[in-house]
Amino acid sequence: MSAPPESRQIDDDQEQEEVYVPVPHNPEALQILPLGGLGEIGMNLMVYETRGKLLLVDCGLTFPSHENPGVDVIIPDISYLQERKDDVVGIVLTHGHEDHIGALPFIWPEFKCPVFGTSFTLGLVGLKFQEHKLDANYLREVRHREGFQAGPFNLTLYYMTHSIVDASALAIRTHLGTVIHTGDFKFDHTPIDGRISDLFSMAKLGEEGVLCLLSDSTNVTHTGSALSEQSVRPALDEVMGRAKGLVVTATFSSNILRIQQIVDSAVAHGRKVVLNGRSMESNVSVARELGFIKIPPESLITVKQVKEHARDKVCIVSTGSQGEPNSSLMRIAHGEHKEIKLGQDDMVILSSKFIPGNEGAIWGLINLLYDAGVDVVHEKDMPSIHVSGHAPQDDLKMMLALTRPEFFIPLHGEPRHLHLHRRLAISMGVKDHKTLVAENGDRVELDAESVRILERVAHGRVFVDGKGVGDICDIVMRDRRHLSQDGMVAVVMVVEKDTGKLLEGPEILTRGVIHEDENPIFLDEMRQAVAEAIKIGPKGMDFNEDEEVGANDLAVRAIRRFFKKRLGRRPVVLPMVMEM
Ligand SMILES: [Zn+2]
Ligand SMILES: [Zn+2]
Repeated sequence: MSAPPESRQIDDDQEQEEVYVPVPHNPEALQILPLGGLGEIGMNLMVYETRGKLLLVDCGLTFPSHENPGVDVIIPDISYLQERKDDVVGIVLTHGHEDHIGALPFIWPEFKCPVFGTSFTLGLVGLKFQEHKLDANYLREVRHREGFQAGPFNLTLYYMTHSIVDASALAIRTHLGTVIHTGDFKFDHTPIDGRISDLFSMAKLGEEGVLCLLSDSTNVTHTGSALSEQSVRPALDEVMGRAKGLVVTATFSSNILRIQQIVDSAVAHGRKVVLNGRSMESNVSVARELGFIKIPPESLITVKQVKEHARDKVCIVSTGSQGEPNSSLMRIAHGEHKEIKLGQDDMVILSSKFIPGNEGAIWGLINLLYDAGVDVVHEKDMPSIHVSGHAPQDDLKMMLALTRPEFFIPLHGEPRHLHLHRRLAISMGVKDHKTLVAENGDRVELDAESVRILERVAHGRVFVDGKGVGDICDIVMRDRRHLSQDGMVAVVMVVEKDTGKLLEGPEILTRGVIHEDENPIFLDEMRQAVAEAIKIGPKGMDFNEDEEVGANDLAVRAIRRFFKKRLGRRPVVLPMVMEM
């Protein structure tokens, strides 16, 4: 789905010593450098540079796949910016999704610069700053349409409808002209809070002249225009109306307007509402405080109060729509939740997308629920239960038509999305040579006449695991994958220093390979194979003639052979040989 990880830790020494010399560039031009989010969907981070100053737009993370066992989150590699820290004048956030703000707690401390965003976005960032004990005085709340300055960049955020409230497109006014960075958007002309995308300002900017448009490519393969958030309500009402027991509705905790609709539908059907899951509680609390969601206080009950109400009078609004293994919905499905048990007549509504890569986990969740007698409604059977927050083709064309840019660069997509979006822009009149597809690490230079890729700079993915940021390199990741697939065998023994004769052992320990207690004979045979190999020595073991072979090499080779022959497996072998 995303570009393969590129890590520079495994480069050989020679390459590491090479000093990076930037390609000569025109300081009066505008440099545009994506360090994440172009060529993949996730971890958005764009760098704009002119007259020696840098502006970062968004700072997101991506979630690990099964390829990255044990990794919590993945963030962009910003080593290219290490030498330029003092030139960074600020970070602007387009909206509060994790793929746009999630890396801030790890990356912001490198710069300690002002962070600009609208109120809900900064509300969510504030939670992160609190959790990571960072200085929230750097957070600068800005309002839509109100300009602000960061170094040479004159900036304005404009309201855009998306699957989160308070999202924005960003206009960057420079001495060269105006650049529009759309962020994630769709044009919802009937949003349930009445706030439509700021089409007027987009048209006005177009009228004044837009140098370059950078626009969301996520749904470029979808024809037509965006479905309104409002269109979900009849589906929610229909399902809520026929549910005989408890209803659990799962959606993203940042999708405040969806949560509003679920609450409205539940209340209209005489149900009390429970907010379930840590981020559901904290995000809705921020949204309530800032006035983005309205929940009648008398309708809200706690998880513990569920049993005081009839089952057909309660609706639980939960996280866990992606089948996340640690989510509370998964615990409910397993029957392991302390307060919420589901069974016959109960209903689970997944008002969310099957995100590519998560399908297996989501079907697993659905199967568990069916086994428990629960009915499940999801977008594969009932498409109207969810709408996307990204612009399909007609909305993308509308954005191009309103802004009429001289230059165009597609944002937020895998290569296939970016290329198709570029073609769409050309079909709308953007000149072929004034649009290009840039991917992570491509340093683009734009002046009034032309656009080109100057060079590809250091970029990649940094793994975060617990408190470690970036300490897990590709070699560690490879070991983890190997361990997770084949397990580990440790062999412990003592040999005589001069003769190599076995004095004690070998003892064998395994993890994730075989059940030792149930396979004593197998273990015995393995020990014998190792002892035999130590006794005979390297002869007949396929070592090179000039190779110096120690007892640990013999033990490793013997165990590998043994496993290959007996089980066709390749466990990690860890020799611990003491010489006396
Ligand atoms: Zn996004
Ligand atoms: Zn988004």
